[in-house]
Amino acid sequence: MSARVLDGTKIRDEIFGELKVEIAELGAAGIRPGLAAVLVGENPASQLYVKSKIAACEQLGIASWMHTPAATVTTREMLQLVDDLNGDNAVDGILIQLPLPAQVDTKLILESVDPAKDVDGFHPMNLGRLVSGREGLVACTPAGCMEILRRGSIAIEGANAVVLGRSDIVGKPMALLLMHGNATVTICHSKTRDLAETVRRADIVVAAMGRAGYVGADWIKPGAAVIDVGTNRVTDATEAERLFKNTPARMEKFRAKGAALVGDVHPDAANVAGALTPVPGGVGPMTITMLMSNTVKAARLRRGEPSGKSSSTKPAHSAIAR
Ligand code: NAP
Repeated sequence: MSARVLDGTKIRDEIFGELKVEIAELGAAGIRPGLAAVLVGENPASQLYVKSKIAACEQLGIASWMHTPAATVTTREMLQLVDDLNGDNAVDGILIQLPLPAQVDTKLILESVDPAKDVDGFHPMNLGRLVSGREGLVACTPAGCMEILRRGSIAIEGANAVVLGRSDIVGKPMALLLMHGNATVTICHSKTRDLAETVRRADIVVAAMGRAGYVGADWIKPGAAVIDVGTNRVTDATEAERLFKNTPARMEKFRAKGAALVGDVHPDAANVAGALTPVPGGVGPMTITMLMSNTVKAARLRRGEPSGKSSSTKPAHSAIAR
């Protein structure tokens, strides 16, 4: 059996199409959603991420601004910048690209962002809203995983869902979203005993550990849906052999490039799972997609309008109409 591919790129295109309609509607009402990105210093990976986020804004017609304080910026200067952006009515979303330099108090900066503009969903106020099942801005990666499940027609209600990882930005919000979707959720972490047995009971597995191919194919219940959040760059040939011995095309690619991107789930799981997100091309494209969706959602919510079709991350049992 070969698992149905849950194609994140295709879902991104679908959501971008919906967002374009929403943005045009907002434009007709004189509103242009806007995202301000703050990129500190010259970290090449961060520069690349912010560039792709700005490019997505341009593709959709969202206004964008980039602020680039020097790597020597102080916490006080960052607080002032965030304060200015909080007070700027053209700015609907504020994105602080992490990591910040060591001298800057990251927690303090993230908590100084107006929760109504917190499009990364990192503010404790938004996390609290998520816990209590109220509408708010949800962290982009788990929100993207929910979109994949929903648009991939994976039944969530009543399912046994296992989330591997408990980080604030992926594992915890993911578990909450699944719980609000009426799944029965188990959260696993590095101290979990008998991980394999726990995963074997799962109808839905969300792997967000950062361990290349750690989840064995024999851990997956036949027919289960697997959402692989892990993004691991493998450069070691022996490791590549372990991962790709049954997928010669990927091994060939690894040999040609000397590196490969793999998820937390072993590629052989594709022979057991019912549906699965590929790495790359699964969860990856959804993170920026949901950042765009959150920016449009923030533009609406800040003006007291209900959120639109693409912002589908509110809890299934929420009283707030979609
Ligand atoms: P993180 O903060 O490092 O958290 C990793 C979690 O996995 C922790 O809760 C840790 O447990 C758990 N864990 C680690 N090793 C484990 C093991 N052997 N068994 C069970 N649990 C284990 O990572 P993150 O930020 O959540 O990201 C996770 C992965 O997702 C990374 O590969 C990251 O690159 C990827 N990611 C991808 C996207 C995307 O857009 N595709 C976005 C975000 C993250 P403890 O809490 O006990 O330490």
